[in-house]
Amino acid sequence: MKYKLIKETFLNFFQKKKHKIIPSFPIFSKNDPTLFFVNAGMNPFKDYFLGHVTPEYTRIANIQKCLRITGKHNDLENVGYDNYHHTMFEMLGNWSFGDYSRKETIEWAWELLTKIYHIPHQNVYVSVFIGDKKDELSMDKETLKFWKTLIHENNILFFGKKENFWEMGSTGPCGPCSEIHIDLRNEKEKKILSGRYLINKKHPQVIEIWNLVFIEFIRKSDGTLEKLDTKHVDTGMGLERLCMVLQEKISSYETDIFYPIIQDIEYDLGNVYNRKDFNQNVSIRIIADHLRAIVFSILDGQLPSNNGAGYVIRRILRRAVIFCIRFLYKKEPFLYKFVDSLVREMKNSFPELEKKKKYIRNILKEEELSFFSVIEKGSKKIQHIITQHKEKNEQIINGEEIFQLYDTYGFPMELTKTLVEKNNLFIDEKSFQKKLLEQKKRSKKEKNSIIKKDWIQVYHDSYQGQNFVGYDLIECNILILKY
Ligand code: ATP
Ligand code: MG
Ligand code: MG
Ligand code: MG
Repeated sequence: MKYKLIKETFLNFFQKKKHKIIPSFPIFSKNDPTLFFVNAGMNPFKDYFLGHVTPEYTRIANIQKCLRITGKHNDLENVGYDNYHHTMFEMLGNWSFGDYSRKETIEWAWELLTKIYHIPHQNVYVSVFIGDKKDELSMDKETLKFWKTLIHENNILFFGKKENFWEMGSTGPCGPCSEIHIDLRNEKEKKILSGRYLINKKHPQVIEIWNLVFIEFIRKSDGTLEKLDTKHVDTGMGLERLCMVLQEKISSYETDIFYPIIQDIEYDLGNVYNRKDFNQNVSIRIIADHLRAIVFSILDGQLPSNNGAGYVIRRILRRAVIFCIRFLYKKEPFLYKFVDSLVREMKNSFPELEKKKKYIRNILKEEELSFFSVIEKGSKKIQHIITQHKEKNEQIINGEEIFQLYDTYGFPMELTKTLVEKNNLFIDEKSFQKKLLEQKKRSKKEKNSIIKKDWIQVYHDSYQGQNFVGYDLIECNILILKY
């Protein structure tokens, strides 16, 4: 099943279950200091969950563009190195705002996965929240009861707060959850070891695909939980991982979402690409992944810039460029070339991409060019430092000097290290780390001075998904959703 059909099947299924189907909200949360980007399908509905607004529809389903590169949900370090974490991904979600509860949520998830998508039921594992002493929460017996009517007990697992209590951020709506994992290993491997021992062990072939969250609390800024008057349901399933399961691939990069783009990159690299080179393979995955995140951010209106969410996007772009330089030996802009490949593959699902293709490609190229000029300037400075040290016969470079290059000129540490090591010199890590720590403390202090209170969100108008244009910051902690 191609990814487009997988998406349509999801939406059709929930439409038949009387859900209002709405489009994805933009990928960024404009001016929201608690959250630069949407990290889960439920974020834009925060106000519904908190009871500040009465929703027009009590059942909604959509496919939300998400980005997990900041805050509580930051997957950046995994991307490219594992088979299923991306910076940007699409989250298939269904919601009940005070409507249905555990029974329907669990039964429908089971029906969709095993009867519509035909995932063999013995490959499915589910988890149940075991409770938590600190928050005075007991085991989620109701969830267990419903799963027991559908699935063998051997396929039910129990976990604590870390795995089975979903929270959007340090404050906000939250609640116990039940996760669905799929064992994709072959029959021989399954006989040697049951999948239940591999859940949450980061096994590349036993992966979490869907989280069913029962939103019943709000986490306050003082860390306490407050019970909500109404119970809600929030579910999220990663499209890329579902494609991996349904297309029987060992990695989401091999699904039809990524593979055609990866093939284009490999082709363009020609002889430079060595199929067996680990770092090159990781770099190609990172390019394909980061490119998608950047393109969709620009498409939704968040351009790379010097501060806030824009800076995060700039850093993602630069991260991909660093991999191009270090492992693919690029000396000039490279990423922008694959905007066309991405648009070609995704325009069926996102027709608006075609119209903005040129614009996006130009922005990428300009960004890459300006980063290459930063690198050129920085390389000269590093080279100067290296020569000075060699002349004085000093092997260790003061970390403060290196930190300044990184902090003031934005010269990437990875490249500094490569250049320094090439010349048989060392960086004094201690003084570098000290400076870095000081900088982190400074920015944390700045951030904390913005986020002091709990969020109150209010809606401007009744919900009209199509025309949503972002959040508007009115006062320090009051947001208005603009339509
Ligand atoms: P993981 O444990 O794999 O990091 P998670 O528990 O953080 O996932 P949830 O917050 O429960 O994920 O999000 C719901 C679903 O979204 C997950 O079950 C998964 O299918 C998908 N998902 C989460 N993070 C990513 C990501 N970085 N890339 C792709 N899909 C993701
Ligand atoms: Mg995660
Ligand atoms: Mg998880
Ligand atoms: Mg999860």
